[in-house]
Amino acid sequence: METNIVVVGGGASCISFIDAMLKKNIQNKLGHLSLIVLEKSKEIGPGNAYLSDLKSNLLNTKAGNITVFKDSPGDFYNWLECNEYKWKPEFPELNISKDTYAPRSLFGMYMKDAFSSVCADARRCGIKIKVICDEAIKIEQISSHQTHVITQGGRVIIAEKVLLACGTQQQIALRESHHDDIIRSPYPTRELKNKIGSSDNVAIIGARLSAIDATIGLIDGGHTGQVTIYSRSGYFPFVRGTQGRYKNSYLNPDYISAHHASIDIATLGHLYMKECQEYLAQSGDDYFEEMPPLNRPITNLAHFLERELVLAKQNRAWQAILYDTNRGIEHIWDRMPSADQDLLIKHYFSSAMSLRVSIPAENAEKILSYLHSGQLKFITGTSQIEVKAGQLVICCNGDSLPVDKVIYATGSPKSLNQIDSPLVHHLIESGVCVENKFGGLDVCKHSYGLFCKEGKMNTNIFAIGELTSGRFLFTSALDIILRHAHACADSIEKFMTEHDNSHPLTHQRSLA
Ligand SMILES: Cc1cc2nc3c(=O)[nH]c(=O)nc-3n(C[C@H](O)[C@H](O)[C@H](O)COP(=O)(O)OP(=O)(O)OC[C@H]3O[C@@H](n4cnc5c(N)ncnc54)[C@H](O)[C@@H]3O)c2cc1C
Repeated sequence: METNIVVVGGGASCISFIDAMLKKNIQNKLGHLSLIVLEKSKEIGPGNAYLSDLKSNLLNTKAGNITVFKDSPGDFYNWLECNEYKWKPEFPELNISKDTYAPRSLFGMYMKDAFSSVCADARRCGIKIKVICDEAIKIEQISSHQTHVITQGGRVIIAEKVLLACGTQQQIALRESHHDDIIRSPYPTRELKNKIGSSDNVAIIGARLSAIDATIGLIDGGHTGQVTIYSRSGYFPFVRGTQGRYKNSYLNPDYISAHHASIDIATLGHLYMKECQEYLAQSGDDYFEEMPPLNRPITNLAHFLERELVLAKQNRAWQAILYDTNRGIEHIWDRMPSADQDLLIKHYFSSAMSLRVSIPAENAEKILSYLHSGQLKFITGTSQIEVKAGQLVICCNGDSLPVDKVIYATGSPKSLNQIDSPLVHHLIESGVCVENKFGGLDVCKHSYGLFCKEGKMNTNIFAIGELTSGRFLFTSALDIILRHAHACADSIEKFMTEHDNSHPLTHQRSLA
């Protein structure tokens, strides 16, 4: 009998999941396997993150360190070397080395090839692969072994297992009036100049990577009007130093599993200090920049970036240590007492993210030059959009400033009712899934099966990626995505080969 797996979303999670299935040789264990990939956009492989767009949208990882294949480090750089004839005509000015922060659209070209290559490998191994350009809007559980995936185009696809790999989600429409003046996502940034007049006064809500992409995309593209970034918390990403990779000895999943059944915030601080000492011992460096303190909002962004650009000329060991927590950030999160989890999310998360997700110096220099010219302003405080006498107004810190356009650059909403996805709304409304306390879909931390309204884990519908960020704390990095995709393939394989829904992994949702 043929087993159907439907993957909803054709981005990095999907590529990595197919790669994992191939490594497991699963088609030989099952007899016949058929994979159906549903992708709502026209480009398959790049996902939302690496779509063709402006060249100023950069990767935040060096070209030599990024790959979509978990067991092939450096695969992107190898692809660049072997396929210059494909990318050079589009990027003639680009001289790339392993240390370059490459345009994300270039990485997207690699992802398209990676998608074609895993599909070709799968076909060679006897797995049937079908790619359908359509949006999944409903998933209905028909029986314990059959699920229907219903698409916008009216298809009903029969699946034994469904993997939701839908990635980042857009914010729902915020206001009916001024619909065209409120832009819900900065992507694709190349379209901003068609939506915004060149002298328009623009407000950007949010101050993370997507706000930086929007600002640079606009101003590099010839925008002459005022641009203002509104940051609720007053944090801005730090600038990436020159350090290489470092493997944590203490803040890693093995050490933590062996030594800490529970990690409160104080213990985390203690482990970080031990890690710093270990870094110094291993590197033999006599210089160690201390990690900037948490929760110090920026009062002057230009001064902050001037200082950051000096510091970024050196090794910033704290960044290497934080980066390596990608190997098991969810192990730390999962062992945190509930009160500390709440504290972390409420009081430290924004500040920690500005440290954790840094930007290349190249982009920091551009932002600094716009601040120096006066075209860019940075305002801290909770902002609200209102319409007064037909005019869009941003209210912040007691001031009401008229603006022509607003761009939301706040990332994927955590709260499910803020997400613009018929599929997610249907899953929640039908009780197939519930929201995690920290946002996103609630899934089992071992097997990625969705938890339903009654608390039971679904053994047919699974989710990975940004939709599960509440369960795993942080999923927005490619190496984390690849780990989850491979672990989820392990779990789906177990459920399929054992045909046993009382598998030890199947359990009730814990609200603790
Ligand atoms: C703008 C941006 C920049 C990033 N930059 C980096 C970076 O430089 N380095 C890094 O390590 N990580 C980066 N990330 C993190 C990124 O999320 C991961 O690296 C990774 O690409 C996510 O892959 P994914 O497949 O889970 O999701 P996505 O890449 O978002 O892919 C999901 C796909 O699912 C499709 N889809 C969604 N819903 C449906 C539906 N109902 N039916 C059919 N198709 C659907 C979407 O169209 C999309 O193509 C970035 C993320 C974003 C959003």
